[in-house]
Amino acid sequence: MNVLSNLLNNATSKGIFSFHPKYKNLGLTHLSFADDLLIFCKGKLESVLGVTTVLDCFYEYSGLKLIAGKCEFFTAAISHNTLEAIISSTGFKQGSLSVCYLGVPLVTKKLTEKDCQSLINNITNRLHQWSSKNMPYAGRVELVKTVLYSIANYWCRQLVLPLSIIKKIEQLCSRFFWKGSDTKATGARVSWRKICNPKSKGGLGIKDIKTWNYASLIHLTRKLLAGKGSLWVAWIQINFIKNQDFWTMSEPHNLSWILKRILKMRCIASAVLLSEPHNLSWILKRILKMRCIASAVLLSSASNTTQIWNGIRPKNSKVMWHKLIWFSLHVPKYSIISWMLILDRLPTKDRLHRFKIISNADCIFCNDGIETRDHLFCNCRYTASIWTSLLLLSGFHMSFSSWSSMLEWASTSRNGKSLISTVLRLSWCGFNYIIWEERNRRIFTGKSRTTTEIINNVKMIVGIVLNNKSIDRNDSINLSLCSNWGIV
Ligand SMILES: [Zn+2]
Repeated sequence: MNVLSNLLNNATSKGIFSFHPKYKNLGLTHLSFADDLLIFCKGKLESVLGVTTVLDCFYEYSGLKLIAGKCEFFTAAISHNTLEAIISSTGFKQGSLSVCYLGVPLVTKKLTEKDCQSLINNITNRLHQWSSKNMPYAGRVELVKTVLYSIANYWCRQLVLPLSIIKKIEQLCSRFFWKGSDTKATGARVSWRKICNPKSKGGLGIKDIKTWNYASLIHLTRKLLAGKGSLWVAWIQINFIKNQDFWTMSEPHNLSWILKRILKMRCIASAVLLSEPHNLSWILKRILKMRCIASAVLLSSASNTTQIWNGIRPKNSKVMWHKLIWFSLHVPKYSIISWMLILDRLPTKDRLHRFKIISNADCIFCNDGIETRDHLFCNCRYTASIWTSLLLLSGFHMSFSSWSSMLEWASTSRNGKSLISTVLRLSWCGFNYIIWEERNRRIFTGKSRTTTEIINNVKMIVGIVLNNKSIDRNDSINLSLCSNWGIV
């Protein structure tokens, strides 16, 4: 392709064909990637014939022949006669936008749902490959993050996705997360908006596409201002911004839709990017207040999309319990069950009874109370005795009268990096997981484990994570913990 590039570039200097008017200052004749080739030239028959002459010359060098019937040409503002002359002289087909280049549609207008169908198909295919109801929630979250950032992110960085498409992508990911497939997630237990919160704010740390798309556009604006980064930036600078002030320039009438969108977002972008945001006009400040992004004003040092996203995403307050389930040695599949538990979104019997899915809501362990979250994980005498035994292994002589008091104690009593803190958090998440697993085993298979077996299962979880870790065994508390929990 280097040979072809040189041939095309040299041809313009020899006058074999003329530059496309918008690319003359850039000296750009073509773009190529793998077997995709775009050639730009002036909309005159002589120029088009000049290009075919170069391609014929390349055929003599390489043996790669142009097949006219497989080529399309795209024009703007040229006469009907010229069009006819090009078609009859070259055999090329006249194409119409949109077409895809490197998997992304080339359009000058607002993206439509049809333009984005390949994006949806791509995500759907990937999710179908992974569809499995046996995959734990933790695995699904990781795959959703991979899909979102490897596919949607590629589009977000260069286009403004229609809201309907963003909703569709989120629906696909939500269904996969809850059901492991593309079946309707009826009774989805935590809203997607909440899942998209950072873990410290009660979510699962998935970035919401709409805000990420905004952040990507602001990042494009930053590149425009810096005047570097890509051919696209150079092209916009030369053809539209020229010597004007980006912040105050009027909107040229012939801008593409996405560029108009970027100009419209200047008030938001300025809040994030301007180094002296206190100079903002009163009206601009007012707009910022209305958009609840005043905090973004402080983000003048934001240099990449993630920092920008952090500045403009909705801010929620931290939850007190996030360190109880998300800590350096946490095990994702145990933590996610505890996350659902804290949000009271596990399908306990009281909930199923309320929806008339089952008629008997009695606790499977004690048959002495309605199976609610609070009962199953705190007030049930059977499971409470197990939790009390586990706490004793860590040296805590505790019992709790309510779920909320237990959660508050567990969340606030030990938050450091000490061994006892890690053991407490690991054992609590492990206890929740094993109790939920045991509850399902008893209901759906009729089989059960003894209390000792359940306790040993939790001990095994703690042991697997902490065995062979560097632990200060001169500390008497640590020594006792290692002995009681069987940590080697
Ligand atoms: Zn019970």
